[in-house]
Amino acid sequence: MKINNAIYIVLLIHLFQYDILARQYPKYDQQDFENELDNIRKRFETFDLDNNEIDPNDRVDVDRWNQLNDNDIKNMPPINDYSNEKTARRWLQWFSRISQRYYQVDTVLEWNYETNITEENEQAISKQSLISSPFDRLSLPMAKRFNEHMKYSRDEDLKVSFGRLSKNLISPNDEDVKQTSKLSSDLSRVYSTTKVCELNNDEICYNLSPYLERLMQVEKDYDRLLWGWQGWHDGCGNNIRPLYLPYIDLLDKSTKENGYKDLTEYWISDYEMGNDTVFESIIDQILQDIMPLYEQIHGFVRGRLCEIYPNRFDCNGPIPAHILGNMWAQQWHERLDDFMPYPETPLANITRILEEKKYTIKHMYRISENFFTSINLYSMTSKFWSLSMFTKPPDRDVDCQPSASDMGYHNDYRVKICTIADEDYLYTIHHEMGHVEYYMSYAKQPFLYRDGANSGFHEAIGDTIGMYAISPTHLIKLDFIDEETITRHYEMNFLMRMALQKVVFLPYAYVMDKYRFALFRHQINHDEELNAKWWEFRIRYGGIMPPVERNNRVNFDPGAKYHISTNTPYARYFIAHILQFQFYRAMCRLQGQTKRLHMCDIYGNKYVGERFKEMLAMGNSKPWSKVLKTLTGDTKLESQAVLDFFQPLHQWLKMENLARGYPVGWM
Ligand SMILES: [Zn+2]
Repeated sequence: MKINNAIYIVLLIHLFQYDILARQYPKYDQQDFENELDNIRKRFETFDLDNNEIDPNDRVDVDRWNQLNDNDIKNMPPINDYSNEKTARRWLQWFSRISQRYYQVDTVLEWNYETNITEENEQAISKQSLISSPFDRLSLPMAKRFNEHMKYSRDEDLKVSFGRLSKNLISPNDEDVKQTSKLSSDLSRVYSTTKVCELNNDEICYNLSPYLERLMQVEKDYDRLLWGWQGWHDGCGNNIRPLYLPYIDLLDKSTKENGYKDLTEYWISDYEMGNDTVFESIIDQILQDIMPLYEQIHGFVRGRLCEIYPNRFDCNGPIPAHILGNMWAQQWHERLDDFMPYPETPLANITRILEEKKYTIKHMYRISENFFTSINLYSMTSKFWSLSMFTKPPDRDVDCQPSASDMGYHNDYRVKICTIADEDYLYTIHHEMGHVEYYMSYAKQPFLYRDGANSGFHEAIGDTIGMYAISPTHLIKLDFIDEETITRHYEMNFLMRMALQKVVFLPYAYVMDKYRFALFRHQINHDEELNAKWWEFRIRYGGIMPPVERNNRVNFDPGAKYHISTNTPYARYFIAHILQFQFYRAMCRLQGQTKRLHMCDIYGNKYVGERFKEMLAMGNSKPWSKVLKTLTGDTKLESQAVLDFFQPLHQWLKMENLARGYPVGWM
C-alpha cells in the first residue's frame, strides 16, 4: 500500500511538472511556421550545389593518413605496468589517435565504393584492410591486458573504454583478411547489381531500386507481383548463397579465434543488454507482448486480401509474402488503401501532395531539416549538401540502400539515398537525417564515445521525428490537409497506417536475427534446411509464407535482403521500433500530452528538443539504460509504449474482426 502511494505521488509530481513545463515554453506559432516554410522554399530556390563552397583540400588524404599512422604506431608510449592508470590513459590516447585516422580512411573508401561500384574501389578497400590489420593485431592483446586491471578501476572512463576495446575482433592472418574483404565486396556487388528480366524478353531487365521495389508497392495483379517477387528472390538470393556461406564461415572462425563462442555471442555483446540468454529473453518477451495486437492486424489484413484475391490461398493460414506491398513483406503500409478501416475518409496522399505542390527532392530534405532545427537540433553542414548522394546517378552502379555516414572529419556528414519524391522517401529522409543529428550531437565526445547509446538508439532517432512529421497534426501545419479533414475515422485510418509500418515490422525484424543466431550456432543444416528454416520462422512468428514452392538446395530467400547479404545485424531495428515509441511518448508527455498520442506533434517545441538533444549528446559515454532515463525516465525497453499508441486501433480491430467474421491467428 505504501509503495503504491509513493508511486502515485511520484506520478502526480511528474504530471504536474510536465504541465508546468509545457506552459512555460511556447509550442509553436502557425505564423512563424509559415514564414519558416516560405524560407525553406526561398532557400531552396537560391540553393545551388555548385555555389555551396567547401574547400576541396579539406579532406582525408588516404596515403598521408596511413603515413601519419605508421609514424605514430612506432611511437607507442612505453608500458611497464598494465595496472598503472596513468600508463593506461596515455596508451588510450595513442590508440584513439590512430584508430580515428583508420576510421576516417575506412569510411571514405567505403563511401567511394558504395557510390561507385568498381573493381578499383573494391581493391582500395581490400588494400586498406591489409594496411590496418597489423595495428589491430598489435593493439588488441594490449587492450585485453589493460582490461584485466581496468575492469576494477574506479575511473568509469577507463573501465568502459577498455571493456569495449577488448571486445573487438582481429584476424590473425592476412589471407583471411583478404578473403573476408573480397567476399564482402562480392556480396555487396551481387545485391546492388542483380536485375530481373521480363519473362518473354531478357533484353528488358530491372534493378531492385527503384523499379522492383516500386512494383511491389503499387502493382495489384497477383501474378505480376509473383513475377517480381520470384525474380528477385531467385536472381539475388540464389547468387548470394554460394558467397554468403563461406563468408560466415570465415567470420565464425575469426570470432572463435577471438575467444567468442560464435558470431551470435559477439553480435549480442554489442547491445550491452546481458548475455545471450538474457538478451533473447528480453526480445522474446517484447514480441509476446505485441503478438495479440499483431494477430489482430494480421487477421484483418488477411481477411481483406482473401476478398481481393479469392481462392488464391488458405484464408485461415499464413499470408503469401508477395501481396503485402513490400518485397520482403516487412512493412505493409503501401497497401493501406486495401486495408483502410474507413475507406470513405482516406488519408492525405502525401506523394500526390508533394507532386501538386511541385516539391522536389531537395525540398523534401529541407522539410526534414526544418523539423530538426525547429526543436533546436542542428542544420545540415555545407559538406552534407555538397557531398551527399541524393539521387541515383544515371552513369554508374551504386548501392541504393539508404544510409547515413559519419565521416568523422571536419563536419563531414553524408547521406546516400536514391530519393524519389514520395511519402516513403520523405520518411526515409527523416530517418537518415536522424542519424546525422545524432552524429552531430555527440561530436564533442571523445572518439571512443562517438556512437549511439546502443545501435538500437541510432536507428530510433530519425524514426521518432518521422512519426511526428507525418502525423495528421503536423500535416495541417504543413498545409497538406485542412483541420476539418480530421475525424475519428480519419484518425483510425492513420493508426492503421502506422501499425502497418511499425507493428508488422516487429515479427519480421525478430526473425531476421532469430534465423541468423541459429545459423551462426550451427543449428541449421546448410543442405537440408537453409531456406526452409527461414520460412519456418516467418510462418511461426509472423504468419507469412512463400508464395511458391521453394527449393532448399538452390534458394536462399533470406539472402535477398540487404542486411543479410551485407551481414548487418538487425535486432537493432527491432529495438529501435520499441525505443522510438518510448522517445515519442516521453516527448509528448514533456509537452503535456498523455492521450491520443498519435495526434501529438512536438514541432517547434525547443524545450522538448533540448531534452532530446541532451540525450543524444551523451553518445555512448554512459550505459544505455542511463541514457534512456535522461529523456524518458525508463531504464529498460517497454513494449507498453507501443501498446499505448495503438490502443484505440487494437480495440477497433477486435470488434471489427469479430463483426466481419475474419479469423485471427494462423497455426
Ligand atoms: Zn538507419
